[in-house]
Amino acid sequence: MSSQIIDGKGFAATLRAKIAHGVETLQSDYNVTPGLAVVLVGTDPASEVYVRNKARQTVEVGMTSFEHKLPDTTSQAELLALIETLNTDPSVHGILVQLPLPDHIDATLVINAIAPQKDVDGFHVANVGMSSTGQSAMVPCTPLGCLMLLRDQLGSLRGKTALVIGRSNIVGRPMARLLIQADCSVIVAHRHTTNTAELCRMADIVVVAVGQPGLVRADWIKPGATVIDVGINRIDAPERGPGKTRLVGDVAYDEVAEVAGAITPVPGGVGPMTIACLLANTLIACARSYDIPDPEGLTP
Ligand code: NAD
Repeated sequence: MSSQIIDGKGFAATLRAKIAHGVETLQSDYNVTPGLAVVLVGTDPASEVYVRNKARQTVEVGMTSFEHKLPDTTSQAELLALIETLNTDPSVHGILVQLPLPDHIDATLVINAIAPQKDVDGFHVANVGMSSTGQSAMVPCTPLGCLMLLRDQLGSLRGKTALVIGRSNIVGRPMARLLIQADCSVIVAHRHTTNTAELCRMADIVVVAVGQPGLVRADWIKPGATVIDVGINRIDAPERGPGKTRLVGDVAYDEVAEVAGAITPVPGGVGPMTIACLLANTLIACARSYDIPDPEGLTP
């Protein structure tokens, strides 16, 4: 059996086109343009690439992008003051503080200083609490992207058994919350789980977010299961030439693809969904701030 490849790149492109349409609706019918502010502290090269990509895609869907690049000497008080300014700026509907922050800044404090209704990353404790209790909230972008791919692939998720491997605040935990909300029976495995392979063989849906290449093997997978690989790992690729590297996920892709019903590739699976969902959250946040109905029905 060879599994269907879930085309996250194509899905994200379609989603961005819908978001662009939603932006046009807000502009033409309500004279409002969604604005996303991204704050980067320091010069971490990976973060700089993410922020550049976010800004480019924000503009491409017709939103306004506000970039705040601060030196790594920025104090916590200065960062909090900027967030307060953005919280009260009516042209800013979404605020994202790029993580990680330098060590001298308390990231939890900073995230919780963002107005919850502008917290398009969905990390504010108010959004975590509301989403945990089944209330409408801003939902973290990567798990939201995984949920969209799963719904597109499977339709209703009701009654499915789902295993989430990894329990981080940015992927694993919010993913488990979303799957509970989607009426799945959810198991969460983490570094202390002793029988992950056994749990995995029970699962109709497997979402892996660990950061360990090749962790999930073919004999872990129930035949026909849907496998979502969130992991992004750069490994040496001597076959491409001396010093070359390539990206892989947490799933032993070639062998798992022989057993699973459907699988996301890395790259081209979950990765492109994250920024698209950030833009979806910004559109939703903007519409909500004016009490306008979500123009594209993207609210999870
Ligand atoms: P993290 O390091 O914060 O969390 C990793 C989790 O894996 C922890 O909960 C830990 O308990 C668990 N874990 C570690 N070893 C394990 C094992 N052997 N078995 C089961 N669980 C184990 O990582 P994160 O921020 O959640 O990211 C996970 C991966 O997803 C990374 O590769 C990261 O690059 C990737 N990621 C991708 C996107 C995207 O846009 N596609 C977004 C965020 C993270």
